[in-house]
Order: sequence, then structure tokens, then C-alpha cells
Amino acid sequence: MIYQPEKECISREQLRALQLKRLQATVALEYKQVPMYRAMMDQKGVKPEDIRTLEDIRFLPFMNKTDLRDYYPFGLLAAPQSDIVRVQGSSGTTGKPIVVGYTQNDVDVWTEMVSRALAAAGAGRDDIVQVCYGYGLFTGGLGAHQGASALGAMVIPMSAGNTQRQIMMMRDLGSTVLCCTPSYATYLGETIREMGLVPGKDIRLKAGIFGAEPWSEEMRQRLEELLGIDALDIYGLTEIAGPGVAFECLEKHGMHVNEDHVIVEVIDPVTEQPLPYGTPGELVFTTITKTGQPMLRYRTHDICTLDDTPCPCGRTTVRMSRITGRTDDMLVIRGVNVFPSQIESVLVSIHGVAPHYLLEVDRVNSADTLEVKVELTEDMFSDTVSQIEAVRQLIAEQIKSVVGVQAKITLVPPRSIPRSEGKAKRVIDHRKY
Ligand code: ADP
Ligand code: ZN
Repeated sequence: MIYQPEKECISREQLRALQLKRLQATVALEYKQVPMYRAMMDQKGVKPEDIRTLEDIRFLPFMNKTDLRDYYPFGLLAAPQSDIVRVQGSSGTTGKPIVVGYTQNDVDVWTEMVSRALAAAGAGRDDIVQVCYGYGLFTGGLGAHQGASALGAMVIPMSAGNTQRQIMMMRDLGSTVLCCTPSYATYLGETIREMGLVPGKDIRLKAGIFGAEPWSEEMRQRLEELLGIDALDIYGLTEIAGPGVAFECLEKHGMHVNEDHVIVEVIDPVTEQPLPYGTPGELVFTTITKTGQPMLRYRTHDICTLDDTPCPCGRTTVRMSRITGRTDDMLVIRGVNVFPSQIESVLVSIHGVAPHYLLEVDRVNSADTLEVKVELTEDMFSDTVSQIEAVRQLIAEQIKSVVGVQAKITLVPPRSIPRSEGKAKRVIDHRKY
């Protein structure tokens, strides 16, 4: 279902006109209210009135995560602090946390984006939405919650963790839509199967909306089979809004970017030049409807490709591909660029191993080493040593051919890799730089 056809299916011409008007207003607001951004614009010699067309966005300076850290906590607010009604923050796993202030308008904008995502997965007021993203500073829990509430659905605010209780509620209340990370969905799905529960009979889920971490097409198939659902991707980041910045429709062919609220660009991360649709690069977002802490040309470090070909669903917005990696997640192993998502694709396609893995990188005698620890499935675990060895060799060969590096493959017993209720930790890099 299309939640707001008048906005989601707007003609490209009308959309561009709307984007320009909103961009100009946001730039003027930032220039007036945020001294740090005014200084950056002055340094580049650009004034708000220089933004005459959408393409002029490229004259604006970029914003980075470091700006949020340097001006922590409220140095980037464009609204008086008394207008801020919410603070959300990033997990801070990569350093000092960042916080973002939201006005009521910003909470509403974010909610609208999530409602669109849920509706695109077929959710409506008759649905029961089980939210097992964490509630708190992390945007996942509250984001999904607000979006589902605005749709009029029944929300079960489970938050993360306690898998047995999640499954009990899912079963007893008859949840139809699941919102969590793809890694946690896999864990839920496997546990449901181990308990002998049958999707379609004991479990009534019809759709899952999974985000906050990268996942693969193979993982989609796995989740759809495990849970008997349509598994859809949702993307977002705290700095811009939270989940819902972009979402998949049932065509499952890229995530529609909510372009009436954000302008999306893809740039070459080295030259910082904008790239045409179809060329992979780093995603850059500009918020055009936020008033609390607007972001102009925010560099995400996420890598993907934009697609502006029409989508059969009728939405006219540009779609972004899955995130294939982060510029700061990329491992350089013996000179080869390796993304954890490439290894995941290999693992998910191999029978006998579960999509739970850990990459350990080290440096021995000045040469990089990669060890891939991957769990065997219960079935495979009880197989003969030679069968297990065959799986190990197959993984090693496939990784060598797909990723281009030699890896040591260690098969570990089922459930031995720590499960995360939030974002999965996939890489441990022991190298000293
Ligand atoms: P943190 O910096 O603590 O991870 P966020 O929760 O705001 O903070 O995370 C945003 C990041 O999560 C994105 O920049 C992206 O790297 C990742 N992410 C979010 N959704 C997806 C998704 N659907 N696919 C891949 N990565 C995603
Ligand atoms: Zn579509």
C-alpha cells in the first residue's frame, strides 16, 4: 500500500521544485542560526542566495560525524533549545556518542517516513507490529514504534532481547509484522524452527522490516524461508532522522528514498565529486524539512548505488541499492579491499553453515591474515569429519574466488558466536596501525 500517494508518487518535476524551495529555506536557516555552518559557508565563499538551482547544492560544504562530536551536544541546533522535544543518539561504539535534537516537527517527519515504510510492506491498522529493536537513544525502537502507531497498527513494544519471550508474544498475540535487525531476525527464525513452530500456523508473520546493519540478498531468501515472510530492507541514520530515510517496497528492488524530506547524492569519497545515478559511491544526505538540527551534505560513509529508473510500484522516488559496505568498514587485507557483506553472501549460499560469523584480522610477520569463524548448523555438526572438511574447503575456495583473498576458515559449533540484540559485530581487527 502507498501511505501518501500524493507525496510518494509526485511527478519528478514537482518534486524538484519542492526540493529546491525546501533546500533554500534550510540553507537560509542554517546560515542564520548555526554559527559553525555559517563559518564553513563563508570559508567556501558561498551565501544562501547562491543556491538558485538544485545542482547548486554542490557549492555547499560537507558535514561530517566529527562536526557532531566537536559541537557536542547542542552546538549544531538551529532551533531554540526550548523547541527541542527529543534527543536521540548513536550507539557510540565508534567513539564518543553523538546526539541529535529533534523538534516536534522533526519527530513528525521521521514518523511519516517510517509509516510509509511499514505501509510499503503491507502493514495497516489491522496489523500487529512487534518491535524488537532496542528502545532508547538508538533510533530503531522508537522509530518503528512511532511509525506503526501513526498507521493505527497495534504495537508490541518488546525492545531487544529475551528471545523466548519474544516468540511467546509473537505466537500468543499473533504478530504480523516484525521490526528488528536482520541478524536478530535470523536468530529468532532459527529458534522458532528449533522449537518446532511452523510459520503460517503457529507464527502469523507476513512481513519483516529489517535494518540498522548491512545484509545481503542471500540473507533475504534465508529469512523469507525461515519465517514465511516478505523480508524488506529499511535504511536510516540518527543524524538524518533514524530508520525510514529509505525503505523497500514489495518489488524488493532497492529502497525508495523519501526525497521530499531529504536530498540524496552519491559522491566519490576521495575526490568528493558527485557521481551519476548507477555509479557506486558514498551516500550524502541533506535534510530539507528538519528544523531542530538540519544536516547539509552529511557524509554517511555508506556505499551504495542510486537508481532513478521507474519502479513498478508507482512511487516516483529514487531508489538506493543495499549498502554494500562502509568506507570505514572496509578491510584492506594484503592490499585487497574486503567488505564483510561479500563474505556474508558467500556464507549464506553454502549449505551446512549458519549466517553467524566473525572476521578476525591480524598481522603476522608483516603479512595480513584473515580468519573467518563461521557456525555449523545443528545438522552439519553431527555429520562426519570428512563432510565437515568438505564444507570448510568449499568456503575457502568460494571466498578466494569471490573476495580475492586467502582466508583461514574455522568452523565452530552451533550458537558459539555471541548473538547481538542490537547491531551485530562482525569484525575484530587485531592489527596495530
Ligand atoms: P551508529 O553510528 O551508532 O551505528 P546509527 O544507528 O544512526 O548509529 O546507524 C546508522 C548506520 O547504520 C548507517 O550509517 C549505516 O551504516 C547503518 N545502517 C542502517 N540501516 C542500514 C541498512 N538497511 N543496511 C545497511 N546498513 C544500515
Ligand atoms: Zn517501488
